[in-house]
Amino acid sequence: MAGYEEMSVVRGEIVADFRSDTVTRATPAMREVMASAVVGDDVYGEDPTVNELQDRVASLTGKDAALYLPSATQANLVAILCHCGRGEEYLSGANYHVFHDEAGGASALGGVVACPIPVDDEGAMTEEQIRASVKADDPHYPISRLLCLENTVSGSVQPVHRIDTLAISAHEMGLVTHLDGARLFNAAVASAVEISAFLDHIDSVTLCLSKGLGAPMGAILAADQATIGRAIRIRKMLGGAQRQIGHVAAAGLYALDHHVDRLSIDHAQAARLSSELGSIDLVTARAATNMVFVDVPLEHRKALRAHVARSGIALGGFRAEGLRIVCHLDIDKGAIDRLIEAFTSYFEGERD
Ligand SMILES: *Cc1c(COP(=O)(O)O)cnc(C)c1O
Repeated sequence: MAGYEEMSVVRGEIVADFRSDTVTRATPAMREVMASAVVGDDVYGEDPTVNELQDRVASLTGKDAALYLPSATQANLVAILCHCGRGEEYLSGANYHVFHDEAGGASALGGVVACPIPVDDEGAMTEEQIRASVKADDPHYPISRLLCLENTVSGSVQPVHRIDTLAISAHEMGLVTHLDGARLFNAAVASAVEISAFLDHIDSVTLCLSKGLGAPMGAILAADQATIGRAIRIRKMLGGAQRQIGHVAAAGLYALDHHVDRLSIDHAQAARLSSELGSIDLVTARAATNMVFVDVPLEHRKALRAHVARSGIALGGFRAEGLRIVCHLDIDKGAIDRLIEAFTSYFEGERD
């Protein structure tokens, strides 16, 4: 059956949704600032709330300028189209979102060639792999232009020194560097550094406001002034320029003020889940920032998901790296307890 693996199998109301940190709903306080936001026409550059958000993120990232976009997918696409022309190439991890989960947008819409590089279990590639992938100046090959890194990769933090080393060598090889930091705030909070610590050698960066930060939508691309100038035109081409979008940008500003430090709660809850679930016979578990990857013997997968669903808990599907369980703003201690209880009762043999 064709179907998205993260579709919920819960019948009736979902009381705890662990499928992704994208499922959060704006809190009452966030809705209030959205309703009262001062707005204008952002296509004219006249929305004060959008301008404030862009200025804030430019300063947080240590870049000249920033641009508000509807989604991180679009921010990545705009970045690639800023850096690469037709027949030119970007390199990225083979499982990175930009290559794997964006419907081939850069190729379909920009004629840009993708060069996926296999990464290790922590989501890392090596300098040698990049060097081996960059093409010689030969008319047979596409022109290698851009290295796309990601942080976190499936919850795994790419440490500052790794990002620095790869980005510095990419520059030496003549590449531009883009970081898909959809979850960069998770990496920063887990590493007890500011997000700018990861960006010294990164030319453009995407941040997502609708993952752990809990805004209903929105993302930011930050880069130098010339890149953002091009990005404004490309965003328009892609249909991503919006009007009184300050109502939504206000949610992003609110999230930056109130939902960054609390990511440590998601990380602590993931660690607790991992240790409790991992202590059940037949279950292995590993935590990475706000995510837990769980595995159980093949014959239990379907029945376990169905059992858990009967407690009103939504889980995603099993993937190569196991079942991904994601902690976020709408997951409290009660939800964690409920999930542990559902797993425990299943493996204690109360398999209804
Ligand atoms: C979710 C995600 C995106 C896309 O975010 P949207 O705002 O949903 O388009 C991009 N990159 C990574 C690494 C992500 O996890």
